[in-house]
Amino acid sequence: MSELRKNPFSGEWVVTATHRQDRTFFPPDDFCPLCPTKAGGTPTEIPFDRYDIAVFENKFPSFATPAPEGMASDRFFEALPASGVCEVVCYSQDHAATFADLGMERVRQLCEVWQERYVDLIGREVVEYVFIFENKGREIGVTLTHPHGQIYGYPFVPPVPAARLAMERAHFRERGASLAEAWLDAELADGRRIVFREKGYVAVVPFFARYPYEVHLVPERPLTDLSQFDQSDLNGLANALERIAKTYDKLFGFSLPYMMGFHQHPDPATRCVAQFTPLHRASNKLKYLAGSEAHCGVFIVDALPEVSAAALRNA
Ligand SMILES: [Zn+2]
Repeated sequence: MSELRKNPFSGEWVVTATHRQDRTFFPPDDFCPLCPTKAGGTPTEIPFDRYDIAVFENKFPSFATPAPEGMASDRFFEALPASGVCEVVCYSQDHAATFADLGMERVRQLCEVWQERYVDLIGREVVEYVFIFENKGREIGVTLTHPHGQIYGYPFVPPVPAARLAMERAHFRERGASLAEAWLDAELADGRRIVFREKGYVAVVPFFARYPYEVHLVPERPLTDLSQFDQSDLNGLANALERIAKTYDKLFGFSLPYMMGFHQHPDPATRCVAQFTPLHRASNKLKYLAGSEAHCGVFIVDALPEVSAAALRNA
């Protein structure tokens, strides 16, 4: 059962999803619920013996439509049923593949699938915000190694995107131009944190990065969300995604775990940015959230973005 619980101090919602405790936890290699169903074998989530890309609703969702029964609300115990959508996107039928070695054609197909799913979900009554993301690697807590990502259709705009949108809207009102454009111009003029600029996309370790190897992929055209991408924009996005994934693996010498997610919204003030957040600060060291980060939201970063951007450029 899923439920939204409100923190009256922060105004933020927490999703309880106790059924997720029972979700598949590192199944043996001979059974993967995201592999194609083999003739005569145990049925997986995908009832086909082969596929390119597969999308289905999460069997252990944090949100669902219609919403499961929630508990009654009270002055201090405000709760709502967690309505919304959770989808799983399998990138390949190849269990051992990673994003970096999918090949350009598949990454391009994936961008089209994301676009199609985004347009469908953002148009739904119950959905206020669509988040396309990938959690990759055991260090991130991923229970299934099969290459896949997820899409959440939240029934509210989550606090991090809401804060981002508020800043973007304020900038747009005051200056009549997008914050992303002004920031991108400043990053390009400085140049030290640019990883690459290619096919209408800029990869940058932001001046304000919270993680040493955090990279943002920013389109040079003012695209607010995937619904605005034409064929050439999708090509540019696919190229940038593949290139940064390969660059990470080359620099670290192994398939680098990361969180990847899109900032996007149908709002003229915003721009569609794909963000990669690896937890590694060196090949054998992870960045953990400790007291300052977890309780105060103030990140202490061990490395300068200028230095990690140079390392990524050289890789
Ligand atoms: Zn698999």
